[in-house]
Amino acid sequence: MGNRVVIIGGGIIGVSSAWYLSRSGWTVTVIDRGKIGGACSQGNCGLVCPSHVLPLTEPGAFREAVKAMLNPGAAFRIRPRVDPQLWSWLWHFARRCNRSAMIQAAHGIQALLSSSMLEYQAWVQQLGVQCEWEHRGLLFVYRDRQALDRYASTNELLTELFQEPARKLDAEETVQLEPALQPQIAGSWFYEHDAHLRPDRLLQSLRGQLEETGVTFVEDCELTALDGTGGQAEWAQTTQGRLAAEHFVFASGAWTPLLERHLGCNVPIQPGKGYSITMPRPNICPKIPIIFPQHRVAVTPMQSGYRLGSIMEFAGYDETIRPERLALLREGARSYLQEPYCDPVTSTWYGWRPMTYDSLPVIDRSPRWNNAWIAAGHNMLGLSMAPATGRLLSELMQERETHVDPAPYAVSRFQ
Ligand SMILES: Cc1cc2nc3c(=O)[nH]c(=O)nc-3n(C[C@H](O)[C@H](O)[C@H](O)COP(=O)(O)OP(=O)(O)OC[C@H]3O[C@@H](n4cnc5c(N)ncnc54)[C@H](O)[C@@H]3O)c2cc1C
Repeated sequence: MGNRVVIIGGGIIGVSSAWYLSRSGWTVTVIDRGKIGGACSQGNCGLVCPSHVLPLTEPGAFREAVKAMLNPGAAFRIRPRVDPQLWSWLWHFARRCNRSAMIQAAHGIQALLSSSMLEYQAWVQQLGVQCEWEHRGLLFVYRDRQALDRYASTNELLTELFQEPARKLDAEETVQLEPALQPQIAGSWFYEHDAHLRPDRLLQSLRGQLEETGVTFVEDCELTALDGTGGQAEWAQTTQGRLAAEHFVFASGAWTPLLERHLGCNVPIQPGKGYSITMPRPNICPKIPIIFPQHRVAVTPMQSGYRLGSIMEFAGYDETIRPERLALLREGARSYLQEPYCDPVTSTWYGWRPMTYDSLPVIDRSPRWNNAWIAAGHNMLGLSMAPATGRLLSELMQERETHVDPAPYAVSRFQ
């Protein structure tokens, strides 16, 4: 069998997969229905966060989701509508909102997060990947003392079961560490080991290096069918013609359920829409990325800009950018930062996070084809999990020993 592979989807997951497959000597073509790195991997918050071990399915999360459904102004929102797939997704999500399912999922999440952090360090320090990488940690800042104190039980769990402790800082210590904050805050939890980067620069740099080694990127090229015989896919039909290959990878993010008939399996992913606004760095710019959990807003100080992002909207494949949602980002930041934003805004953006109901991605072979693979469903952490995903996928495809246990990411869990 030859080693030509077509990767469908040029987001961070497809490009990371291309990275490891091309280093193993495979001939790689990446196609995208839009631009390479032009979808969810473009304007996200850029946080590489091994601290984010816990899935969304924490006990009580479903109650929060139902409350959010009734509140159009909430940062977490489900737009009520007749959509059997959404209701099925929510039902499965609700069933997992308990401690034991949460901990089980967290182990699967942590394996990819920890491995990815090591891979990123190698990319940046040894392999010349340029992405404005900074290793300054991540602050969870609270205005309300009770909410700050409540996080202690999560910290205890993360420390005991996952060796991922945070340092609790009072208001004075927090402002000393990050003087861009207002002194009226209650305090913070500090994760020292997290990092951040500029996602579009990362994609540009990876693409540049891959092109030099012979990887082909084809934009505005949509996969419309996959065909073959006897369980062996042979060619991809695309809007730019047929592409023959010996292997195929679906790294199609939130669009993956729309391709189920080509994959021969159920991949229950809902688009979880988030927004960001990017602007020049304010004069009093934070040094450390910050999340305000009470307002669900993240602030990323990048070397060449400054980004406010977040919001989770289950609204289907909705392409509108709603000014009232963007306003939530500004309002959130205003309550905590001395100089919360800086005009002019250079970009307003939305992306569809590929959300599975158990917070784990699928990294597995398609049940229909021996030589077609799925790498999708990375939820809110695709950037943080991408290098390990690409490495694991390439190990599976080459039938090598894998560096993390692939079992939690099997597609059979949905069938
Ligand atoms: C506001 C926001 C903030 C976020 N912040 C962070 C963060 O700080 N850290 C973090 O780790 N993660 C973050 N995320 C999540 C992260 O952005 C995603 O998990 C990640 O980008 C998913 O990558 P992907 O490659 O799977 O999907 P995408 O980047 O969406 O790529 C999938 C690609 O597949 C292409 N495609 C689909 N169907 C076809 C087809 N039929 N033919 C050809 N091409 C096709 C699409 O055009 C698209 O380019 C954030 C997300 C949002 C919305």
